[in-house]
Amino acid sequence: MNLPASLTDRLARLALPSRAVIDGALIEAASGATFHNVSPRDGQVINQVAACQAEDVARAVASARAAFEDGRWRDLGPRDKKKILFRLADLMERDAEDLALLESLDVGKPIRDARAVDIPLAINTCRWYAEALDKVYGEVGASPIDRLSYATHEPLGVIGAIVPWNFPLHMAMWKVAPALAMGNSVVLKPAEQSPLTALKLGELALEAGLPPGVLNVVPGLGAIAGEALALSMDVDMIAFTGSGPVGRKLMEYSARSNLKRVSLELGGKSPQIVFADCPDLEAAAQAAAWGVFYNQGEVCTAASRLLVEASIQDAFVERVAAIAGAMVPGDPLDPDTVFGAMVSERQMKTALNYIATADSQGARRVLGGERVRRASGGFYVEPTIFDQVAPDSTLAREEVFGPVLAVMSFTGEDEAIALANDTVYGLAAGLWTADLNRALRGARKLKAGLVWVNGWDACDITMPFGGFKQSGFGRDRSLHALHKYADLKSVSVTLR
Ligand code: NAD
Repeated sequence: MNLPASLTDRLARLALPSRAVIDGALIEAASGATFHNVSPRDGQVINQVAACQAEDVARAVASARAAFEDGRWRDLGPRDKKKILFRLADLMERDAEDLALLESLDVGKPIRDARAVDIPLAINTCRWYAEALDKVYGEVGASPIDRLSYATHEPLGVIGAIVPWNFPLHMAMWKVAPALAMGNSVVLKPAEQSPLTALKLGELALEAGLPPGVLNVVPGLGAIAGEALALSMDVDMIAFTGSGPVGRKLMEYSARSNLKRVSLELGGKSPQIVFADCPDLEAAAQAAAWGVFYNQGEVCTAASRLLVEASIQDAFVERVAAIAGAMVPGDPLDPDTVFGAMVSERQMKTALNYIATADSQGARRVLGGERVRRASGGFYVEPTIFDQVAPDSTLAREEVFGPVLAVMSFTGEDEAIALANDTVYGLAAGLWTADLNRALRGARKLKAGLVWVNGWDACDITMPFGGFKQSGFGRDRSLHALHKYADLKSVSVTLR
């Protein structure tokens, strides 16, 4: 693997975070337990990371609770809170190259994407919520003359943020930044596949002057550290992004413990519809390919179902396959790589199993489908396209969370919308058409939390992000996310 010398030097000097951040200190798990942190780039162990157990999580929660109750963060004036969050964003910017390296190494994503997307967006999220934190207003009720009634947004208390491995720092910031902006304390549990940038975030937050205990980071296994956090009697809310099965468990844990609030962002099987009157077929083909293959398909909004009007299907699929065929899997740390490794051997096997199932169920494989770069020891799967996928087949219905596209055809608007909505998920959906009426009708009829017309993933921090149906509930991003981390309190003062 021929990497630029500047990058190999930096890699050699890169400090690899490994300890939990609890109550303002970097510490090992009390038991001394660690877990192997493996890089999907070559299958090699990067480092040993503290494997937090229930007792470590309890310490983190206690420290977050103490920080919340004594008001060391919650009661700080908005200007001081902002100063600290802006400083944190500045420190992330200072260390952006290291953060990008850690992210690429840990999850196998192309370093160019970590540099251009993950890290800048995480920094922007931090700044956006720092700016927003004093723009949350309460309301005054229409009270009788002898009473003053008003409602305020009160922080919830201790937030448990459980985040996934596909955009580790970015997803962490989507939760940590609004939660802190509202005055809460946070215990962040990164995915075991990708703990490095979350641990670095915890360190930078201390350097930025965030008081001890306000942001704790507890690396560890989901079934141990994650479960302990979600079962805690002293956590007020779990904010989660990840799989449906774990989302269901979190609701059970809530019911079994203190009825903590739960917000769930659970992925999808998002359709992208291309009508024959599409105003720019080349742009649509690019969006069809990048919409599903970006980040190796490990994206909750991946456009994993492509619905094409029958009259243009063959030519369109051919063009999408040509674009995807140029996405050759490569070393994530090579700045020229656009398509990296899958996060883990397990995730790679899951994708390969879905490919084998689609083959056996009669879909037509038009591109890819193989594991490649075996000699590297890493977990690489080619961009894969299946045409003529039956709507009731496994590939049409289940989320792969890998680089596999299912293509189906339709005739007419009604069939397109019915096919698009024929899923238990409802995260994102898109449609390409030159007909404004059809676009607006479609936007209304598509059952998804995010709808894109003549583009894919064309939105940013200013717009709410989250799903309908089994894609979960609660919104990340935008001012709505702030309200998720607050309770409404009604106060009525009788004037005597
Ligand atoms: P997961 O749901 O198992 O893991 C997500 C987070 O939950 C991790 O931090 C994990 O440690 C934690 N977790 C796991 N078990 C837990 C438990 N019992 N209690 C509390 N926390 C627990 O996801 P995964 O195994 O990493 O990936 C499996 C599937 O999840 C993927 O194939 C994909 O479908 C989905 N996924 C979705 C997203 C998304 O953005 N919506 C992101 C990653 C994965």
